Amino acid sequence: EAQKESHGFQTEAKQLLHLMIHSLYSNKEIFLRELVSNASDAADKLRFEALSKPRLLAEDTDLRIRVEFDKEKGTLTITDNGIGMSRDEVIENLGTIARSGTSAFMQQLTGDQKKDAHLIGQFGVGFYSAFIVADKLDVFTRRAGHSADQGVHWECHGEAEYSVETVELPQRGTRVVLHLKEDAKEFADGWRLRSIIKKYSDHIAIPVEMLKEQAPAAEGEEQEEKAPEFEAVNAAQALWTRPRSELKSEEYKEFYKHISHDFDDPMTWSHNRVEGKLDYTSLMYIPARAPFDLYQRDAARGLKLYVQRTFIMDDAEQFLPLYLRFVKGVLDSNDLPLNVSREILQKDRNTDAIKSALTKRVLDMLDKLAKKDADQYQKFWDLFGNVLKEGPAEDFSNKEKIARLLRFATTHTDTEKQDQSLEAYIGRMREGQKAIYYVCADNFATAKSSPYLEVFRKKGIEVLLLTDQVDEWFVGHMNEFDGKQFQDVAKGALDLGEAESEEDKAEREKVEQESGALVERVQAVLDGRVESVRATTRLVDSPACLVVTEQDMGPQMRRILEQAGQ
Ligand code: ADP
Ligand code: MG
Repeated sequence: EAQKESHGFQTEAKQLLHLMIHSLYSNKEIFLRELVSNASDAADKLRFEALSKPRLLAEDTDLRIRVEFDKEKGTLTITDNGIGMSRDEVIENLGTIARSGTSAFMQQLTGDQKKDAHLIGQFGVGFYSAFIVADKLDVFTRRAGHSADQGVHWECHGEAEYSVETVELPQRGTRVVLHLKEDAKEFADGWRLRSIIKKYSDHIAIPVEMLKEQAPAAEGEEQEEKAPEFEAVNAAQALWTRPRSELKSEEYKEFYKHISHDFDDPMTWSHNRVEGKLDYTSLMYIPARAPFDLYQRDAARGLKLYVQRTFIMDDAEQFLPLYLRFVKGVLDSNDLPLNVSREILQKDRNTDAIKSALTKRVLDMLDKLAKKDADQYQKFWDLFGNVLKEGPAEDFSNKEKIARLLRFATTHTDTEKQDQSLEAYIGRMREGQKAIYYVCADNFATAKSSPYLEVFRKKGIEVLLLTDQVDEWFVGHMNEFDGKQFQDVAKGALDLGEAESEEDKAEREKVEQESGALVERVQAVLDGRVESVRATTRLVDSPACLVVTEQDMGPQMRRILEQAGQ
């Protein structure tokens, strides 16, 4: 077991590594953020395991991260006393780059380095960013609870392969040694490292320490041999526990990157402390980019859960509804028990209360964004609008709030851009108009040129142009907004309400009368294939159109069910 074993990387992994090194080249320093982030996660995991096995922490209770360098050797070392890894875990965690969805990822690559660099962040290649600055990596690690002879040494020369051997290690935790490339020797420098840590890792909850710089001995004096002393370089306090007034946007943004594994800045965030019946702090972010798995049912989602500052789990999905699954963030509760599990969460009364409060928070945050910065909100809508539209079906109680956040393409602008709110629609309603009209189609071109719209266009009545898969489903649950029913222009008898003038009414009655004979003949020919035939004034240029009855499913819904094999 102790002997050295060599492993190769998969081809795809090699490609990915290569690509990452090149696309992140202009932003080299982020490697340190990734390694410190991992060390901090390792401390979180150890604290969590120690809740049920206190002895894991007992031998060394002061969790910390240390960053050291050796200018002569050109090395940089990041050491933590966190959870560490067993031999199997090393192979599992460090041997497979971009563990899941590598090929899906490779397909998404555009060749545009900037865009690709952003994609990379989503695939958890954080650790491998070390290769941006190092041509060789050594990792020494020992799992908490394992004995000294169960240490592991992992060694890797960049692109080709890595080896693992079992070694003796006196302490638990992980030490990553980077052998810096010629063009990255600048990182073996105290001042530089301190400023990078300040910039990216100030929010890390445990100390990130460096050796105190020793003042050079004054002339004629002997340099005193002092034991090396470490000092914290960061604020070392969980960011969300600090008062809002004290926090800078930059700090919020870096914290977002730490918890989300996103390389981009978030769009907006909301940080709140709640005291009283419930006692918790939440910090939630709206990303500025949609994850590749937004529509995958089993994709990880939810908040990072802490109980009294102790990390409990990633992706606690019980605190937000599915239609807000794009939200990232942290929840720190003082009410939940430390031994809380997913099962307990499901039954806990507090969970629902927090969920409903957080849901409102997110909806309010979006409302604020929409009011404050329409352009940003439009970006949000383009990314996540389709997910938000699942809201009315899932969350009846917030229907009204959600409705105000919706944006549509309509005949008012007649462009594909979904940028019109229902409030704006209502503001433009014709006198006497009772309903909010919409047409559903597979795509914008079809919707826009739908014969059902002819009469509406003629009368200057605005119609929503719905072309997303979710639309028919969503509109069925919306039902009404601001006291106005949603009305499919392709369904049933067309009643334009008082929007129909006396003149129009006379015309309609005349047409109905005159067409009596024709209607009968058509009815006879189509017998058994249609339910009924009637004359209409809803068409202006087209001779005929198909209409489904009020109770029938619309064509989109029908197609969805057909696809599902029903
Ligand atoms: P991520 O942090 O997104 O999971 P990384 O590539 O940064 O992805 O790290 C891969 C995995 O390697 C981590 O999930 C963790 O299991 C393991 N790992 C990395 N660094 C450490 C560390 N310092 N201590 C313990 N485990 C680590
Ligand atoms: Mg990481």
